[in-house]
Amino acid sequence: MWGHKDAVEAFVRMAEDAEQTGYKLKIVSAFRSFSDQKKIWEDKWTGKTLVGGKKLNTSLPDPQARALKILQYSSMPGTSRHHWGTDFDFNSLDNAYFTTNRDGRRIYDWLVNHAANYGFCQVYTSKKGEGARTTGYEEEKWHWSYTPVAAWYQRQYPSDVGYERLTGFLGAETARAIGVIPGYVQGVNPECVQ
Ligand SMILES: [Zn+2]
Repeated sequence: MWGHKDAVEAFVRMAEDAEQTGYKLKIVSAFRSFSDQKKIWEDKWTGKTLVGGKKLNTSLPDPQARALKILQYSSMPGTSRHHWGTDFDFNSLDNAYFTTNRDGRRIYDWLVNHAANYGFCQVYTSKKGEGARTTGYEEEKWHWSYTPVAAWYQRQYPSDVGYERLTGFLGAETARAIGVIPGYVQGVNPECVQ
């Protein structure tokens, strides 16, 4: 696995401190390339990977509707924060692990209370409740971002990447109509952008 040097160093500090108090933090996904993300996206787009038990190429023939369905949990190639090397998925890719499993609950509580001290922020918080996010991916309790670097990448994204560079994958033509940059790239927990 690979990551941005500053983010990896901060993670190592955090994981060592967590371990001292009995919490085992493990990265299950770090940097992902454009071609990694293109495979994840296109396998869902073409029906090779089922989404909610369905082949989206037949259940959602409309390209925008299909893209929006995939976007509940997977990024369009070129828009994933995992491209930046600043974002890591911890321990499990299942929200239920962090709410119903005893170890998962303890680790999530520890992250909520301590991760900010190391520069990490949960970008995909709940979309329910007062002051919650209104756009973007569903909640991901496992995805944490090293904001001293990532916040800058996010601010630069519309000018440094922009829609012109979101090409080279199936369904790319939907990106602008869906508003994937304001809706998803920028649709994060506002506390993580400061
Ligand atoms: Zn992630």
